[in-house]
Amino acid sequence: MTEAAPSTTVQTSDLTSAFENGDLLLHYQPKVNVSGRWPEIVGYEALARWPLAGGGFIPPDQFIPLAEECGLVLSLDIWVIETVCQELAHLQAGGARSGLSMSANVSPQQFRQPHFAQSVADILTHTGIAPSDLTLEITERAVLDENETTGRNILALSEIGVSLSLDDFGTGYSSLFYLRDLPLKEIKLDRSFISGLPHRRQDAAIVSATINLAAELGLRVVAEGVELPGQAAWLRLKGCQTVQGFLYGRPAVLDHHVTAL
Ligand code: C2E
Ligand code: MG
Ligand code: MG
Repeated sequence: MTEAAPSTTVQTSDLTSAFENGDLLLHYQPKVNVSGRWPEIVGYEALARWPLAGGGFIPPDQFIPLAEECGLVLSLDIWVIETVCQELAHLQAGGARSGLSMSANVSPQQFRQPHFAQSVADILTHTGIAPSDLTLEITERAVLDENETTGRNILALSEIGVSLSLDDFGTGYSSLFYLRDLPLKEIKLDRSFISGLPHRRQDAAIVSATINLAAELGLRVVAEGVELPGQAAWLRLKGCQTVQGFLYGRPAVLDHHVTAL
């Protein structure tokens, strides 16, 4: 069940029932450190899936916007954070090495909730997960509105020790402002810059400069959407340590990755 079904018309009421019935599930995609002799999984990103009765699933690009529109995304994101923390606790109890982290995507709306940072702190406490083992991925849209509550949540989460990651880096309007002003730990270079590597000169220049800039700022860079060995080799040569993409693992249920290790 790794293939998306053809585009379907999705209804808010169906999505709400699917969520309330516990039908949504998470696939996990490995984040891989390629700086050493062998690639090493350093974490997983959780990606929400809505399975269809006949097989396949409705991709998040179709149902997350709907969940944002109707407000369900607030409960959905909390469920994702809670689930990844429980899964990580489970892996740690089974002997996973320390430092393995889990990443969850968080929608812009969530950051405007006054109690968001406290909810995350509560989840960390009751699952026993160290804040530094949780990464929250924010898109540039989340910070764009410069909402006061968003700023307070970002600061509080960073003070707790949760890692903040800027997703789809380079696709927004004020990327450099964010690098300067936000307490980030990681940036994720958008797949659209990676797909043309290593031959497309413009992509190579932007990616290479971003890797250097991030190093100067003390940020981890994750290259998204790495599909070809030539892309991975080029990124490694340029000093990008962490990559994510179909080359190293497609999003799948966690058991699949763990047994494949
Ligand atoms: P994202 O966070 O940037 O996730 C990366 C997307 O790229 C995922 O699509 C992943 O399956 C896909 N991908 C990873 N490696 C490759 C590759 O090598 N080649 C190609 N062609 N694609 C690759 P997905 O799972 O369809 O998710 C799309 C977006 O939906 C995510 O983008 C994220 O913004 C959003 N999303 C997914 N799950 C959640 C969630 O639980 N909460 C929220 N708020 N948003 C979510
Ligand atoms: Mg993401
Ligand atoms: Mg992304």
